[in-house]
Amino acid sequence: MLPVVVVHGGAGFIPRDRAEISCAGVREAARGSYAVLKSGGSAVDAVVEAVTMLENNPAYNAGKGSVLNVKGGVEMDALVMDGRTLDSGAVSAVRGVANPTQLARMVMEKTSHLCLTAEGALNFARAMGVPEVPEESLITDYARMRWKKNLEPGANPVESQMGKMGTVGAVAVDVEGNLACATSTGGIINKMEGRVGDTPCIGCGGYADNQIGAVSPTGHGEAIMKVTLSRLVLFHMEQGKSPKEASDLALDYMKERVKGLGGVVVVDPKGTWTARFSSLQMAWAAAQQEQLHYGLYHGEDFTEPI
Ligand code: ASP
Repeated sequence: MLPVVVVHGGAGFIPRDRAEISCAGVREAARGSYAVLKSGGSAVDAVVEAVTMLENNPAYNAGKGSVLNVKGGVEMDALVMDGRTLDSGAVSAVRGVANPTQLARMVMEKTSHLCLTAEGALNFARAMGVPEVPEESLITDYARMRWKKNLEPGANPVESQMGKMGTVGAVAVDVEGNLACATSTGGIINKMEGRVGDTPCIGCGGYADNQIGAVSPTGHGEAIMKVTLSRLVLFHMEQGKSPKEASDLALDYMKERVKGLGGVVVVDPKGTWTARFSSLQMAWAAAQQEQLHYGLYHGEDFTEPI
């Protein structure tokens, strides 16, 4: 089996001054994750590696760089799913951890539950020996600036969010033909305290099934949840559509039915991959057969050797 990984850095509009770092980060994460696959790592190892790298990169709305809730705090959501067993793990509205995706993996592997939230998720992290990090260390000047701007009278946080998202995610197929997905986010800007978006909800913020495919989405979480976007993409693949056709059908449906914009990265069990979006832009990168593909605008597919 030829391994493949596809990562995204969020759908939306990426301001010109941030486009380059946004593209560089997804390329780096795809390379790092592909190295894991090439050395025999599992699809779960690979997607967790990619998303961890993106969480540690302050250019994205996940881990360090997360958007702030209305009170100026960081509450993060993450999901991991293993397509071999359909096991999954998630955390929602978690604070004080650097890598929510690694914690989501621990929920999958070390508990009998699928999702832990808020204080309970943090207590679980402590019990697992995950180091707690000060909230300040996750907050960037850019996130604070956007939070303040959206507190101003007349501001429209949802519109602002539709413009600039930055959630991160990855899907992979490993050398044994197993599939996995992972997604991580700080959510939407100036969200209510306790708001849980699509990301930690299985079928919405991701899905992986060795028999069909794996999906990691990005976009307005409430819209994604209404149409269970990840499972909708896979439904179309079950009906015989290619990953690309299935993604476009699902994204078109979300746009028409609930006026939601977003994007997805998708793989099927044969290693066919796609990165599709209905938003203006989405930073994405894919690694397969020693080639790195990447793009930011519709129709782009640049390639370079790994
Ligand atoms: N889907 C994320 C959320 O609503 C946001 C994003 O994709 O940027 O929490």
